[in-house]
Amino acid sequence: MSKRQLISSEEDTDKGKVAKIGDTDHDENTAHNNMAVATPAKTGKRTDYLSWDEYFMAVAFLSAQRSKDPNSQVGACVVNPERKIVGIGYNGMPNGCSDDELPWARQAESNLETKYPYVCHAELNAILNKNAADIKGCSIYVALFPCNECTKLIIQAGIKEVIYYSDKYHDQPNCKASRRLLNMAKITYRQFKPRKCQIVIDFTSIDGFPLKQSLSVASP
Ligand SMILES: [Zn+2]
Repeated sequence: MSKRQLISSEEDTDKGKVAKIGDTDHDENTAHNNMAVATPAKTGKRTDYLSWDEYFMAVAFLSAQRSKDPNSQVGACVVNPERKIVGIGYNGMPNGCSDDELPWARQAESNLETKYPYVCHAELNAILNKNAADIKGCSIYVALFPCNECTKLIIQAGIKEVIYYSDKYHDQPNCKASRRLLNMAKITYRQFKPRKCQIVIDFTSIDGFPLKQSLSVASP
């Protein structure tokens, strides 16, 4: 392994690094990078592309940005054994039920004035949004370890693997129930460990002006 490859792999494991989709080489030809038209065409295969796990988890996180929940945005992505996405969902109120009228509070004098009796979790929506005849044998990528209610759905849908990012409610009873059910149903679950903690989507990169360059060009 060359020194440069070594550095590259070390950077990949650095959680503080920001992955910029469409970012250009930033170790050489700095002057060229300030002028996209002058940047020579690259000939080698990209090495900083997303892994499958990163890709599907990123889709789940992007979907979560559609959520109206002010406190918790969760996304889920169902993937078949051929690595095709067959369902995406995020937490939200049921179809036809106004998310302007229903409450979003986590606490209130009455449980009926909290979101909990009404909101559909991301896993439920991802499973019901499926665009395949069934999702038996699929994997589900979720931002948050599934609650016991979603775990029931996951099991009944025939999903065989759960990949989650956060386990912040690990010690709560509903998560303990989830693990109990998943273990009994022989569904594997594993925590996703990203190489990088952020992926930045830069719309301008397609025009050859990645974010960094735009900023550097704008600066005197
Ligand atoms: Zn749930």
